Amino acid sequence: MRIVRDVASVRAAVAGAGRVGLVPTMGAFHEGHLSLVRAARAACDLVVVWLFVNPTQFNEAADLAAYPRDEERDAALAAACGADVLFAPTVEEVYPAGHATTVTVAGIADVLEGAQRPGHFAGVATVVAKMFNMVGPDVAFFGAKDAQQVAVVRRMVADLDLPVEIEVLPTVREPDGLAMSSRNVRLGPDDRRRATALHRGLSAARDAVAAGLRDPVAVAAVVERTLAGEGLTAEYIAVVDPGSFAPVASVDLPALVALAVRVGPVRLIDNMVVTP
Ligand code: AMP
Repeated sequence: MRIVRDVASVRAAVAGAGRVGLVPTMGAFHEGHLSLVRAARAACDLVVVWLFVNPTQFNEAADLAAYPRDEERDAALAAACGADVLFAPTVEEVYPAGHATTVTVAGIADVLEGAQRPGHFAGVATVVAKMFNMVGPDVAFFGAKDAQQVAVVRRMVADLDLPVEIEVLPTVREPDGLAMSSRNVRLGPDDRRRATALHRGLSAARDAVAAGLRDPVAVAAVVERTLAGEGLTAEYIAVVDPGSFAPVASVDLPALVALAVRVGPVRLIDNMVVTP
C-alpha cells in the first residue's frame, strides 16, 4: 500500500486503473471503517482510503482537538484489509490559502444533525465534493451509521451530476449493540455501559413498530424511556423518511429512527430502520 499526501500523487496512483473505489474516513479505524475497506476491495480494482480529520466539519474546537489520531496504526489496518493507496493529505493541501468555496445542501442538511451542529454538513459536503474531484472514484463507500450524511451526499451527487456511485454498508456494532465509533474510546467505564441504551432504545422502537405501533411520537417515547432508564436525555429522537429525512406522520412504510445523545463527554449518534 502506498501512502500519498498530495493531489498530483493520488491522481498518478489511480491513472489507468480499472474500477476505483474510495473509502472516505477521518481515521482512528475500527471494524466499521474496515468493513468499508473490505467491501471496496471485493468490488474494485483499486482501493483508495482517504484519511483526513476535516476541520471544517467540526463545530466544536474541543471535539476536533480530542479527535483520536494514529496514522501508523490506521495505515497498517488499511493495508491488511487490502487498500492500495492511503491518501492522507495535510490541511494545507485540502484547504490552501485563499480557499473560498463551500458546498451547501439545502433542506436535508438543515435538520437533526444539521440543526444541532451548524456548518457540519457544509463541511462534509465540501470535503466530499473535493475528494471526489481529487481522486475521481467510480464508487465511494459510506456507513449507514451516519445515515443523514449518506442522504446529504446522495443529494449532492444527484444535484451536481457527480459521476460517482454511492454504496452504503450496514452499521457495525460491538457485541452489546453499541455502534462502533472513533469517539467511543473517550467513554469511561460507566458511560460505556450507559451508552448501550441507544441501541436498546432503538431496538425497542423497532419491536414496538413491528408489533403495530404507528404514531411517531409514541415510537420516539419508547426510545426516550429506555434512555431515561440510564439517566440519559436525547438531543433529538426523530422518526423520518430514510431518503428525504422528512418527519413521517405515521409509520406505514419503513422509517428511520435517528437520535443523538450526550453520554458523559461524548456525543453519540445512532439510527435504525423500523418496519411496520
Ligand atoms: P468517520 O471516520 O467517522 O468519518 O467514518 C468514516 C466512514 O465510516 C463513514 O462512512 C461512516 O459512516 C463509516 N462508519 C463509522 N462508524 C461505522 C460503523 N460503526 N459501522 C459502519 N460504518 C461506520
